[in-house]
Amino acid sequence: MILLISDLHLQEERPDITRAFLHFLATRAPAAESLYLLGDFFEAWIGDDAMTPYQRSICQALRQLSDGGTKIFLMHGNRDFLLGERFCRAAGCILLKDPSTVLMNGEPVLLMHGDSLCTRDEAYMRLRRYLRHPITLWILRHLPLAQRHKLARKLRKESRAQTRMKANDIVDVTPEEVPRVMAEAGVRTLIHGHTHRPAIHELHVNGQPARRIVLGDWDTRGWAIQIDESGLQLAAFEFVDAAV
Ligand code: MN
Repeated sequence: MILLISDLHLQEERPDITRAFLHFLATRAPAAESLYLLGDFFEAWIGDDAMTPYQRSICQALRQLSDGGTKIFLMHGNRDFLLGERFCRAAGCILLKDPSTVLMNGEPVLLMHGDSLCTRDEAYMRLRRYLRHPITLWILRHLPLAQRHKLARKLRKESRAQTRMKANDIVDVTPEEVPRVMAEAGVRTLIHGHTHRPAIHELHVNGQPARRIVLGDWDTRGWAIQIDESGLQLAAFEFVDAAV
C-alpha cells in the first residue's frame, strides 16, 4: 500500500495539525510500503542547519517510521524548498525531484508539488525560477541565520498580499499545462498538491482518458491518497484529538 499526502504546512503554531500528523504516522503510515510527502510539508524551512526543537521532533518521528521499514519520499514545495540532504539523512527520507514519474501498481504516475503548473501567475513563476536557481540556493544556504529569517518573513508577507490580489484562476493550475506535462511524461495519472483544491479531474491526454488528482491541504481535516490492489482513493479524514 502507498500513501501520499501534501501541504501539511507543519508549524509549531498548529499543534492540532502536528498531533494529527503524528497520529497518522503512528497508526496509518506503518502499514504502507511507501509514504510520499508532496511538498509544503513544513510551513517554512530556512535551512537544515537551523532546525528548531519542534522541527527536530518531526524529523525524529519520520525517522522512526523509516526505521520501521516504510520508505519515505519527500518533494519540495514552495515553502520548504530549502529542505536538504542533511534533513533527509536524519529523517530517513529520499529527496524526490519535482516532477518525478514513479511506478505505482504497475502504472507510471507523475508526481509534482503543483506550483510549476500555475504558469498564468507570471510574477510567481519568475520568482520561482530565481529562487530555485542553483546559485541562489547556494547563496541562501550560506546567508547568516538572521538574514534568512528576515528574507523568509518578507517572502511570506509578499506571497500572502499577492495571493489576496490575484484572480482565483491565476493561482490555480493552467488547464492547458496539465495535458502537456502529462504527455511529456507519458502518464495517464498526475498527482499534485499546492492549490488546496482537492479533487479528481478527468481529462484526455493524446486522446486517452486520464486523470489529475489533487491532494488537499491539512487544515481543519487531513487529506491522503491511498493506492493498493483495489485502486486509488482520495479521501479526507477528521483530526482525532490524540491528546485525550
Ligand atoms: Mn505550495
